Amino acid sequence: MLTINDKTFVPFITADTIQARVLELAGQINQDYATRQPLIVVVLNGAFIFAADLLKNLTISCEITFIRVASYQQTSSTGQLRQILGLSQSVANRDLIIVEDIVDTGFTISEIRDQLSADGPTSVAIATLLFKPTALQRPLQLDYVGFEIENRFVLGYGLDYDGLGRNTRDILVLA
Ligand code: 5GP
Ligand code: MG
Ligand code: MG
Repeated sequence: MLTINDKTFVPFITADTIQARVLELAGQINQDYATRQPLIVVVLNGAFIFAADLLKNLTISCEITFIRVASYQQTSSTGQLRQILGLSQSVANRDLIIVEDIVDTGFTISEIRDQLSADGPTSVAIATLLFKPTALQRPLQLDYVGFEIENRFVLGYGLDYDGLGRNTRDILVLA
C-alpha cells in the first residue's frame, strides 16, 4: 500500500508480472524488426522505466530518442493542443516505435503519431505498457500492448500521481 497526499494506492500489477510481459514484448519487437534498425521514440516522463526495461531486452540494432509533450488550452474550440518537444533529429525515412506509458482516451498518442507521421517516416508503431480500452475515444492501432486494464487510475513503474510515485517496481491502483 502507498499513500500520497490524500490518496491510497493498492497493489495492482506486480514487478514480476511486469518484467515477464516486457520480456515478451521485447521478443516480439526483436522478431518484427530483425531486418530493420528502428528509431525508438520514448515519451517522457512516464515511459522512462518501461523503455529502459524494454531496451535492455532488445537484441536488434536500434536508436533511441526522447520527447516530451506540452499540452496547453487553445482559445478556439479545438481544446487541448499538444506540442512535441525535444525531438532533435528528423524521423523521415525511419522506422519509428513510439514508447508510451499508458493510453487512456488516446488523444495524446494519436497526436504524437500524427505529428511524427508528417515528417515522412517509413513506418510508425506504438508500444504502450498500459491500455484502458473502455476509455479510448478514437480509433487507434496499438502494435504492442503490455496490459489492458480497466478504467481506473494507476501509478508506479514510471507513472505518477502529482509528480510522485514513479519510483515503485509494482504498478498500484487508486483504492
Ligand atoms: P490520453 O491522452 O490517452 O487520455 O492520456 C494519456 C496520458 O494521461 C498518459 O500519458 C498519462 O500521462 C495520463 N494518464 C492517463 N491515465 C492515467 C493513469 O491511470 N495513471 C497515470 N498516472 N496517468 C494517466
Ligand atoms: Mg504518457
Ligand atoms: Mg502524469
